[in-house]
Amino acid sequence: MAQTILIIEDERKIAVGLQNYLESAGYTTFSASDGLTGLQMARRERPDLILLDVMLPGMDGFSICRTLRAESSVPIIMLTARVEEVDTLLGLELGADDYIAKPFSPRQVVARIKAVLRRAGGELQPPEVLRKADVEIDLQRRSVSVQGAEITSLTPTEFDLLATLMRNAGRPQTRGMLLESLQSHISEAYDRTIDAHIKNLRRKIEPDAANPQYIVTVFGVGYKFAE
Ligand code: CA
Repeated sequence: MAQTILIIEDERKIAVGLQNYLESAGYTTFSASDGLTGLQMARRERPDLILLDVMLPGMDGFSICRTLRAESSVPIIMLTARVEEVDTLLGLELGADDYIAKPFSPRQVVARIKAVLRRAGGELQPPEVLRKADVEIDLQRRSVSVQGAEITSLTPTEFDLLATLMRNAGRPQTRGMLLESLQSHISEAYDRTIDAHIKNLRRKIEPDAANPQYIVTVFGVGYKFAE
């Protein structure tokens, strides 16, 4: 049976665009253009996931998220047009599972929905600590150490890139794959390229960034974590 997605978004163009794209990706969608209708629909239709805009007429996305969280564990991805809201989204412990900054591409949204649904489906969690070569990362604490020394300067994007490379150690990852793996930082990743992130990551964890031994370039493909 198709998974159902409720879109709560007052900008008609965006709502219709999302609806079309998600339907063609195989999801069943419902949409509401104001907060209260959205909340009622969420209760009535019991969707598998909710895309929730922050700025809405009637009841804003923050209030809806808080209200829904009090009564259900439905996965919620917030849509936000303003970068300032991101801090609020992350800081307020609203209980949202993820957020997507506008403008976004429909492809990004689908990738994010898949990731959130996968997590929600209770798929086997990856091990919490990964050790390869002299590099150790703790996925829960989001800490990294190299040769026993903790590296505290990684950005969230750099950390996630490193985690993906280490999970797939020995297997080359294309830039496209690395981009897809960035579940919560895709818009940031678009602004600055994977190459720039990798460069920063190397500067922080490699003993000699000019001759990287952990994150090696696979020419014509992308990067891999050395085995
Ligand atoms: Ca809006």
